[in-house]
Amino acid sequence: MEFMDLNPPERILLGPGPSNVSARVMKALSSPIVGYMDPYFFDIMNQTQILLRNTFKTKNALTLPLSGTGSAGMEAAFSNTIEAGDEVVVGVNGYFGERMCEVITHLGGTPVRVVEEWGRIISEDAIEGALKNSKAKIIAIVHGETSTGIEQPIKEIAALTKKYDAILIVDAVTSLSGCELDVDGWGIDVCYSGSQKCINCPPGLAPITVNERALNTILNRKTKVPNFYLDLSLISKYWSETRVYHHTPPASMIYAIREALRVVQEEGLENRWERHRRNSQAFIAGIEAMGLKMHAQMDHRLPSLNTVVIPDGVSDASLRRRLLNDFDIEIGGGLGALRGKIWRIGLMGINSTEKNVIMMLETLERTLNKEGFHTNFGEGVKAATEFYNSH
Ligand code: PLP
Repeated sequence: MEFMDLNPPERILLGPGPSNVSARVMKALSSPIVGYMDPYFFDIMNQTQILLRNTFKTKNALTLPLSGTGSAGMEAAFSNTIEAGDEVVVGVNGYFGERMCEVITHLGGTPVRVVEEWGRIISEDAIEGALKNSKAKIIAIVHGETSTGIEQPIKEIAALTKKYDAILIVDAVTSLSGCELDVDGWGIDVCYSGSQKCINCPPGLAPITVNERALNTILNRKTKVPNFYLDLSLISKYWSETRVYHHTPPASMIYAIREALRVVQEEGLENRWERHRRNSQAFIAGIEAMGLKMHAQMDHRLPSLNTVVIPDGVSDASLRRRLLNDFDIEIGGGLGALRGKIWRIGLMGINSTEKNVIMMLETLERTLNKEGFHTNFGEGVKAATEFYNSH
């Protein structure tokens, strides 16, 4: 067998993640490795934690990038806070809410499901009803539901935690730095994310932040965290002044996320949220002008992940194949019940640009016409351009 040189195609990643990674971050990735007890590395770790705190908008001491993808963040959030037999109120309006229930049952917990249609937000009343009718002391909800394109309001749900003496776990894998998120201001107790979406770092790290209330829950467990690798009280000993070895940190990835977070900081969080919002709105204007429909509930659309209803008669697989083969553009198909029904078009981090919006609309329209869905050619780009000119 011949093993050829590695030569992956250069794609424009406008799917549900990963997103593209800048040359700056790729350069950081290839920097020399130092040992995990090297004072230079400690300095890089400290800086990474500060940048993460700024991005989550928190002062939580326990804020660090876990080794592993976003799922490691989810797994760590639940395995540290729940014990076998615990009930957890979970908002389920998409694939990742379902995934939370799955993780909870793996840990011997019982999800109390608050179900809503995929593509609609969950109301705080529904969450409160579940808290009243259960023994749950934990609420879990997805902020940016990547399977539906919903941006879930969090503040009102967070306000319930004091009244019911519960802690709130929020999945911010697709929302961190792509739309407003204020961990301390809203009162989120545990929040985790992934490196490969709006942060534009390769997949492989799961930033997580835990406040004092949640830390008390963790420190007062009756049983050990069932997972050594993700035990936050052990990991945090390495990520604090004691520097007790737990596992070898993936140094290159930590260099990379530090660099990616520096890019976030240079732009400014609020500016970044606004850029995502503006480009998503221009994209939606173009999509609707072409005669297509958005899937997610109006006024609750996630700017970093735009869901478009696939028009009747158009083949999902064939259109996505054409985009990939002819234009090197990746977009995502639907997950679970939405498979074949929607496209998921990510405008994440550095990929959320006017250039990408116009290019995506243009290529989507051309490809749709090839697939037999006829539009008034140019309407999409025209509407987006008008939006940019007036906003
Ligand atoms: N949560 C959400 C909302 C996600 O979108 C994803 C991945 O797309 C995950 C969790 C899991 O992250 P990963 O695939 O990086 O493990």
